[in-house]
Amino acid sequence: MTGTFTASPEHMQLALVQAQHAWDLGEVPVGAVVVRDGEVIATGYNQPIGKHDPTAHAEIMALRAAAGILGNYRLPGCELYVTLEPCVMCAGAMMHARLARVVYGAADPKTGACGSVLNLFAQEQLNHHTELVGGVMADACGQMLKSFFSERREQLKQERLQRQAIAHAHANAHSIDDEAND
Ligand SMILES: [Zn+2]
Repeated sequence: MTGTFTASPEHMQLALVQAQHAWDLGEVPVGAVVVRDGEVIATGYNQPIGKHDPTAHAEIMALRAAAGILGNYRLPGCELYVTLEPCVMCAGAMMHARLARVVYGAADPKTGACGSVLNLFAQEQLNHHTELVGGVMADACGQMLKSFFSERREQLKQERLQRQAIAHAHANAHSIDDEAND
């Protein structure tokens, strides 16, 4: 982190709004925005399931949109805010884009490539352009993911109970049939 940079809570808040779009579609809620000169120029949210696309992470969606808008595959001077620590794929894409800075919220102990599992940005042979800032609004960003997964667990549990109840009802119906046939 350089001395002069202050992460913008407003931009992370907008990334959280993007994450909510993912949640609404049943996708893991991760959202991203690309900012240039303090202005949001592109947004993206996680949607690999719906798009049948393993690369459709929030960061990739936002990078693609930003590059399209600017008409340039490189995004120097741009910052990307994302609610969850980027994975290896997204970290690589950010370096190819020559982003000035990536700012993330919650750490991802399972696939995080910004310090949790490994830190690609610390590889000086790979990273010449992109500054890394983590833990911005980490609680709010992490809480959204926690709520999503606990809601999903509860849904799966309800579905299992429902299936059991139906199976039970069938079994009872059969035994009544058997009695009637006696
Ligand atoms: Zn990713």
